[in-house]
Amino acid sequence: MPADPRPNLVEEGDRFLLLGGRCSSCGLASVYVPPICSCGEVNSVMSCRFGPAGTVFSSTVLKIPVPGRPPPTCLAYIDLDEGPRILVHVEIGDGLPPLPGDKVSISGKNTLGDLVALPDKAQVSDNEGMSDD
Ligand SMILES: [Zn+2]
Repeated sequence: MPADPRPNLVEEGDRFLLLGGRCSSCGLASVYVPPICSCGEVNSVMSCRFGPAGTVFSSTVLKIPVPGRPPPTCLAYIDLDEGPRILVHVEIGDGLPPLPGDKVSISGKNTLGDLVALPDKAQVSDNEGMSDD
């Protein structure tokens, strides 16, 4: 079994935070703690936590069946506040996918280990008034 490349989460109270790292030399945020930062510094990346809030960079809805993940499935790249960009599944039910700039929050992992985010409630009501035709 290969190592799971998906980021790790830690539960803190009722929130889920991403366990990542930040370089003390250049400030780059990452989803793990590499021994060498991309700036070239060795042992400069310190463990830290990010989230749970983030901003949608892009999103899409998969309508093809993928084993274990019945369609439709909404995927989004989100920029965690002060943190790295990560790929998440967004739970939208029958609603529309989040738009770039929308706020979401990490809500944990699903049974398959995928990171899951929920749209901010205020924006869900905003987007429901939009038409996609
Ligand atoms: Zn660095």
